[in-house]
Amino acid sequence: MSDIPGIVVNGASGRMGRMLVNLVSENPACRLAGALERPGHEWVGLDVGTAMGKPAIGVTVTDDPLEAMKDAQGVIDFTAPAATVALAEIAAQARAVHVIGTTGLDEDDLSKLEAAARHAVIVRAGNMSFGVNLLTKLTETVSKALDMEFDIEIVEAHHKHKVDAPSGTALMLGEAAAEGRGLRLDKVADRGRDGITGEREEGHIGFSAIRGGDIVGEHDVIFAGPGERIILRHVATDRAIFGRGAVKAALWGMGQKPGSYDMMDVLGL
Ligand code: NAP
Repeated sequence: MSDIPGIVVNGASGRMGRMLVNLVSENPACRLAGALERPGHEWVGLDVGTAMGKPAIGVTVTDDPLEAMKDAQGVIDFTAPAATVALAEIAAQARAVHVIGTTGLDEDDLSKLEAAARHAVIVRAGNMSFGVNLLTKLTETVSKALDMEFDIEIVEAHHKHKVDAPSGTALMLGEAAAEGRGLRLDKVADRGRDGITGEREEGHIGFSAIRGGDIVGEHDVIFAGPGERIILRHVATDRAIFGRGAVKAALWGMGQKPGSYDMMDVLGL
């Protein structure tokens, strides 16, 4: 057992998973303690380096979370809601910090994560980058400063493989905009307009999603008022920003009491 904190990567074969395997192995502040995939995945039993078409790194991909976490203090998870919820209970049993980047979680999933966070640290964010978390803070501030004459619209663009919409980041920005106005997003969100929708309702927050090509992630928060418009924009050009944020969150979480945290906590924003 080493003194350097061990981190497991769940969904190691995914787009984010592969990047995280590299980031964790290359970071001197931590070590790759395990690589997890779902049962039946072709990578199970292979060295994760070899599976990625690179030199072996001495970590075998497993489908057994307890086995993967036996020598780990944290697990980073960018997978799918069902996989994340199942892992939360096991990570809590192992008292490992569970960093969750998975998006598309519903209310039921979130209540299960809350239960797990009674026993261990969970850090979850729809976007793990510093820039987006700063944008979230700015969105709340601008929303608070402007009156209801300013219509808030959130436009996001992502690559063609993304399966959920609006993006987790768009929802995070929507929450911040609603909070700035003292409203609940679920009461004012306009999602998926189509056909004769009627006029826009004052105070509502609209979402639009663009999907195509290899767009990493772009988010505009538009405050459209009479005679003027303020646009806050974040453009991600490298997915490594999410991975680096997740590794930072895992190391930060190791010093915290059990509970639910987000990237604002990690970054002190
Ligand atoms: P992806 O390439 O589809 O990767 C998902 C990985 O999870 C796949 O390898 C998948 O394996 C694996 N997986 C599915 N079920 C599993 C299970 N039961 N156990 C272990 N692994 C399992 O997707 P991605 O682009 O990496 O994104 C993954 C998630 O992260 C999405 O929800 C995305 O929206 C989110 N994301 C969040 C941020 C952020 O900053 N918070 C940034 C980027 C992406 P199979 O292919 O075999 O199913």
